[in-house]
Amino acid sequence: MTAQLIDGKQIAEHCRLQVQQQAVAMLQQTGVSPHLAAILCGDDPASQVYVRNKEKACAKAGLRSTLHRLPADVTQQQLQQLIAALNSNPDVHGILVQLPLPRHLDTVAILDAVTPLKDVDAFHPENVGLMLQGRPRFLPCTPAGVMRLLSASGIPTAGRHAVVIGRSDIVGKPMAALLLQKGADATVTVCHSRTPDIAALCRQADIVIAAVGIPNFVHGDWLKPDAVVIDVGINRLGDKLVGDVDFDAAVGHVAAITPVPGGVGPMTIAMLLENTLTAARLQTTRP
Ligand code: NAD
Repeated sequence: MTAQLIDGKQIAEHCRLQVQQQAVAMLQQTGVSPHLAAILCGDDPASQVYVRNKEKACAKAGLRSTLHRLPADVTQQQLQQLIAALNSNPDVHGILVQLPLPRHLDTVAILDAVTPLKDVDAFHPENVGLMLQGRPRFLPCTPAGVMRLLSASGIPTAGRHAVVIGRSDIVGKPMAALLLQKGADATVTVCHSRTPDIAALCRQADIVIAAVGIPNFVHGDWLKPDAVVIDVGINRLGDKLVGDVDFDAAVGHVAAITPVPGGVGPMTIAMLLENTLTAARLQTTRP
């Protein structure tokens, strides 16, 4: 049996079209066009590509975006001043600070400085708290993208055992939280760098979600024949991008799997578009 390939590009395209339609309707009804402000500090090549892709996606979805480029030696105060200006600018609805920031900057303080109503990455503690309580304002983009991939592919999570590998604040932890929510109803195991025998845990999993950042970390023989495999990892191996799962070893015997690239990556951007639209709505309908 060959696995069902979960096509993130196609599902993301569908989300983008819906955002586009809703943005047009919003403009007609309120005169407001959603506007994302992205901040890029320094010239990290991968970050430049990510920001460019987000800008392109905004343009395709009919959302406005503005890129604020700052030098790698920007000070904490300068960056916080820019964020404060964007926070109070009513023409800006979403603010995205591209990570990683240069090492001399205090990332937590910077992310906390973004006003929660414009926090389209859902990194602010207020938004993390709301998400954990099951009443989200914004959903974190990558985990929300994974949930959407599963639902759009007709893959149920209720009552199934999901093993999440990785416990980062951006992917692993919120991923586990979304799978646990009422409505998703999965039983969740979270593995990390101190977890013994991850292979044995994966062998019990109906759904494996890998967010480790190590190429081919998950071996084919860790996966049950009917498992669903979501590969969040993006790793450069020579001139190729590969995930955290040994795709070639897995694809022949699991039930469904995401490719890298073309799986979770496009969904992360699609969820950012949805969050920007939500942010514009929240700010437009508030007094
Ligand atoms: P991270 O480095 O912050 O976290 C990695 C996690 O993996 C940690 O929690 C750590 O405990 C765990 N880990 C590390 N080594 C391990 C080991 N030997 N055994 C078990 N667990 C181990 O990374 P992140 O930001 O969560 O990203 C993870 C991967 O996902 C990266 O490849 C990143 O590029 C990718 N990513 C992709 C998207 C997307 O849109 N597709 C978005 C964000 C991150």
